[in-house]
Amino acid sequence: AHQARVNSVVDSLTKAPRNIQFPTTKDGRLQSTSEIFGQNVFSLKEMSKMLPKPVYKNFIKQLKGNETLDKVTADAIAHAVKVWAIQRNASHFTHWFQPLNDSTAEKHDSFLTMKSNFVDGFEEVTAIDTFSGSQLLQSEPDASSFPSGGMRTTFEARGYTVWDTKSPMFIQDGPHGTSILYVPSVFISYNGEALDEKSVLLRSAETLNKVAVEVLNMIEPKDDEDHPRTKSVFATLGTEQEYFLIDRALYTLRPDLKITGRTLLGGLPPRHQQLEDHYFGKIPTRVLAAISEAEFELARLGVPIKTRHNEVAPAQFEVAPIFEEAMLAVDHNMLTMDVLHRVAHRHKLKVLFHEKPFRGVNGSGKHCNWSLSTDQGDNLLDPSSSPETNLRFLIFLVATLKAVYDHGDLLRAGIASASNDHRLGAHEAPPGIISAFLGSQLNEVLNAVEEGRPVNYEATGTQLQHVRVSGTVLDLKVATLPSIARDLTDRNRTSPFAFTGNKFEFRAVGSKQSVSFPVTLLNSAVASTLMEMRDALAKQKGDKPIASKDDQLAVIREFIKKSKDIRFEGDNYSDEWVQEAARRGLPNIVKSPDAFGRLLRAENAAMLRKTGVFSEAELQSRYHILIEKYCKDVMIEAQTLLTMVTQQVLPAAFQYRRDLAEAASYMANIGVQSSPEVNLLNQLTPVVADLQAEINSLRATLDKIISIDDLEVLAKEFSQQVLGSMNKVRDLADELERHVSDKLWPLPKYTELFLNI
Ligand code: ADP
Ligand code: MG
Repeated sequence: AHQARVNSVVDSLTKAPRNIQFPTTKDGRLQSTSEIFGQNVFSLKEMSKMLPKPVYKNFIKQLKGNETLDKVTADAIAHAVKVWAIQRNASHFTHWFQPLNDSTAEKHDSFLTMKSNFVDGFEEVTAIDTFSGSQLLQSEPDASSFPSGGMRTTFEARGYTVWDTKSPMFIQDGPHGTSILYVPSVFISYNGEALDEKSVLLRSAETLNKVAVEVLNMIEPKDDEDHPRTKSVFATLGTEQEYFLIDRALYTLRPDLKITGRTLLGGLPPRHQQLEDHYFGKIPTRVLAAISEAEFELARLGVPIKTRHNEVAPAQFEVAPIFEEAMLAVDHNMLTMDVLHRVAHRHKLKVLFHEKPFRGVNGSGKHCNWSLSTDQGDNLLDPSSSPETNLRFLIFLVATLKAVYDHGDLLRAGIASASNDHRLGAHEAPPGIISAFLGSQLNEVLNAVEEGRPVNYEATGTQLQHVRVSGTVLDLKVATLPSIARDLTDRNRTSPFAFTGNKFEFRAVGSKQSVSFPVTLLNSAVASTLMEMRDALAKQKGDKPIASKDDQLAVIREFIKKSKDIRFEGDNYSDEWVQEAARRGLPNIVKSPDAFGRLLRAENAAMLRKTGVFSEAELQSRYHILIEKYCKDVMIEAQTLLTMVTQQVLPAAFQYRRDLAEAASYMANIGVQSSPEVNLLNQLTPVVADLQAEINSLRATLDKIISIDDLEVLAKEFSQQVLGSMNKVRDLADELERHVSDKLWPLPKYTELFLNI
């Protein structure tokens, strides 16, 4: 065991980075990212080149109107994409979808079809490549092995994947130089219920679009050439993805990492992240080689990766894209995780997306930068576009704040998982209390609007010269606001939901999870408050065609008052905040088993029904899936820990004790008494005994609780009894790791796993 560790360490140090040849131009330089960008995507541009004009026009029309495709158009697109894909070595196609298990699913079918001809009265079968419109539009995987939360009764196992025309098709490398055509799809049951992440996200986007346009129509002047009316609004999303990269050989020697994604044992080395020398440091060569190969593939897939850097913890990194329309961004985040995973493999590295792979150092999150954009390219949450749109900005800002206030617990439920629990509240990530941070300037602006007084710049604590004010005196009646200098708003890193200049950043989202669910919930909650806003504006404006500035201000004021308690500008990690939040009546949901039930809270369920995003049955099924997954996750961890302690940790301790006993007995033979070996042996005895007792107790707990039928009770047992006992086991095992001879220790230690420390 020790030799395997040593070999892997030596290997990881001597491994040369894998080199690949990026494509070059005619004059011999490497192609730039923009030159390779989207090469593997069957984009609208590609479509317009390959399809007959009327077919293409039809497709665009149907896409805009959210209509289902007619057969002729579907057949023509299928044919075109088949030709396009086969030119790029495609042998297979697959519907690609996102079942409710935080990953993607695919089932490959070849283009092969057998066609029979009759030649002189004899049947002759020939092979041809085909791809029909109906194959493009719909496929029927057996749904019975995907999570459905009891929604799909066993006799009706049918599920359908349906092409999501809003997301472009693409090819990815298959084996031996072949490729595979991917058709992004939604996954629904026979009755049209959502069995995946995507269909509810699409529904939330539809409602959000509709109501946001209704609100805009009430506040924007009539259509004219200079100010064309907004026809659609969509959420934008940029996901900052954090992850760890470690050597794969060492990873392979850790059953806990392999099975659960996190280390269940292992003590911190003397040096880890205290010196703060990893963040933004030089990216290790081997890691950089892997990252840039992944970025290359992602660029060809049309994923606009922009940023890469070292994160706070040793061996931790971040990748961030340029934001996109939210649904596409969700697909692209799934692709990013997938490509990173596969490319790392080629570099003999292993990506860890788990929220807390290592105890004692920072975990990983996935900051969801979220905003709303119009088809005119206006960011509705940008305060500084122009003073005339300040009221519009405030309307969408306070709508978002009220959405978070009304449904904070729902957002908390959307990020709940066994793995994210280890990160939330651990003084490195936002805690289980959802609040929103605005920054002192904007906070003062909202206070001023609420109190109907001018903005007091002194109160913002910002330097005046940074605040560009249109006009010297701020008269809120004419609704001019200072342009918010962006760098002034992003000071609070502790808030779970922070306004960062022209977007909100939902930071509590887990690194491993699909962002689809939290974004769906956020979209829905905001759509719901926009409905309230629409109704309030309608009432306020009466018969007038457009709500006046006073009308708008009145509504904004009302919403500021109602949502005030969600705003918090202080340190979210402090104990004072926990007390203050309790006074405000904000829920503090520390553990996931307390969060899942929030999905079903009457106000949340009503909101999700009202917005048409989740039916009652779909919500029940989600709840079921999440809570069941939680229990299974902890169960798997507990069993992995038991195996590791029984088969690896205890035997190492026994061997070491035997070595000590032998040494002591040799000493005794030559007449040396009370040897230090005996002291050490005696010191270890209670630790080993306690560890044995603790694993027996963990085993007994598991045996006992497994008969509990009520999932909610079971989840609580897992979160308290089982995780509590696992922590005790770990503390004792880590104590042994500190004492047992390194030569006998079978598991790679943290120092070795942090290869670039
Ligand atoms: P930081 O958070 O470090 O200040 P940036 O402001 O550049 O970094 O953005 C972080 C992420 O937010 C990026 O993925 C970026 O594309 C995304 N982002 C920027 N503007 C928007 C927007 N209007 N909507 C959604 N995401 C956005
Ligand atoms: Mg950020």
